[in-house]
Amino acid sequence: MTVDVIAAAAVGDWQAQLRAAITSPAQLAAALALDPAHFGDSAGAAADFALRVPQPFLARMRRGDPDDPLLRQVMAAGVELQAAPGFNDDPVGEVAEANPRPGIVRKYAGRALLLVAGGCAVNCRYCFRRHFPYGENALSRAECDAALTWLADEDDIEELILSGGDPLLAGDRYLAELVDALHRLPRLKTLRVHTRLPVVIPDRVTAGLLDALDRDGLRTVLVLHANHGNEIDRAVQGACERLRGRGITLLNQAVLLAGVNDSADALAGLSDALWDAGVLPYYLHLLDPVRGAAHFAVPDDRAQRLVGELATRKPGYLVPRLVREVPGAASKRELAPAYPA
Ligand code: SF4
Repeated sequence: MTVDVIAAAAVGDWQAQLRAAITSPAQLAAALALDPAHFGDSAGAAADFALRVPQPFLARMRRGDPDDPLLRQVMAAGVELQAAPGFNDDPVGEVAEANPRPGIVRKYAGRALLLVAGGCAVNCRYCFRRHFPYGENALSRAECDAALTWLADEDDIEELILSGGDPLLAGDRYLAELVDALHRLPRLKTLRVHTRLPVVIPDRVTAGLLDALDRDGLRTVLVLHANHGNEIDRAVQGACERLRGRGITLLNQAVLLAGVNDSADALAGLSDALWDAGVLPYYLHLLDPVRGAAHFAVPDDRAQRLVGELATRKPGYLVPRLVREVPGAASKRELAPAYPA
C-alpha cells in the first residue's frame, strides 16, 4: 500500500490512521525515497524497540532527506544498538522506585500518574519509557477501579496526570467514564493529560474527546509533546484550536535532541510554531539516559548556552525551562540559561 493510498483511506478517522501506521524501517525509508542502508542495522534496532510512524506525521517529513528532524526522532537506526556508559533501561527510576501499584507512578508531592494506555501512536527513539514494562502495568477494568480507590485514599493528590504510553489512545467512551470517576475524587482539582497524539494524528481531537475532557469544576491542562516547528502544521493548529475552545490550557514539553532541535534557530522556530497554535513552550527536557538513545544527548553546558541565546531572541513566555529528571528527587531540576556575553 502506498502512502497516498493510506492517506486516502484514513482521512478523518484517527483509528484507521493508527492502524495504517508504518511499522518497518524499510517501509519508512521507501516512503521517503531514502536508502535504508543509511540507517545501519535499523531492523535490529526496531526489534529492540518497535518502529511506529502514522501517515499524518510522515507527511510532514522532507522526501530524500535522511537528516529530516522529524524522521530522526522516529527512524530506528543501528547506532541505538551501541552500548553507552550510564545509559540504562530505567533512567528516571520509575520501575524501581515510583511504581507503587500497577498503573500508578508516584514521583512528586500532590500529584500522581495514571498509566491509561501502554502504547503510543508514534514510537520516539529517545523515549525514556522505551523499556518500561507496560505489559505489567496494563489495567483491567477491575484494576483500574482499584487504582481509583487507591487514589481516593491518598490524602494529598490534587492533580492527576493521565499518561502512558499515550492516554489518548484510549477511546472516547472509556476516557469519558474515567474522567467521570476522577471527577468524583474528593480532592482533585486538576486533570493533566500528557499526549503526543494531537501532534502526530490531529484527527484524534474528536468532539467525543472534547466532551470527555470538559468537566465543570475540574481544570484541564493538556501537555503536548513536539520537538521541532515542522511538527506543527495547519491540522495540528486546528486540533489545538478545538481544545482551547473548551477552555483547556495547552502547554508543550520538548526534549533537547542532537540533530533534531539543538540549535537556537530550531528552538526559536519551535516556540514560534507553538505560539501560532496557541501553545506555551513549558519544558525543554535534557535527554534521560535511556539505553539506545545516547546519540541524541546534548551536553549540559551547550544546552544552557542554547537556552540563553533563545532568551535573547524571544519573550520570556516563549522560552521553556531547561530541566532534568533526577531519579528519587522531589522535583525536576532546573538548569539556568547561560547568556551570551
Ligand atoms: S509519544 Fe511520548 S511516551 Fe510515546 S514514545 Fe513518544 S516520547 Fe515516549
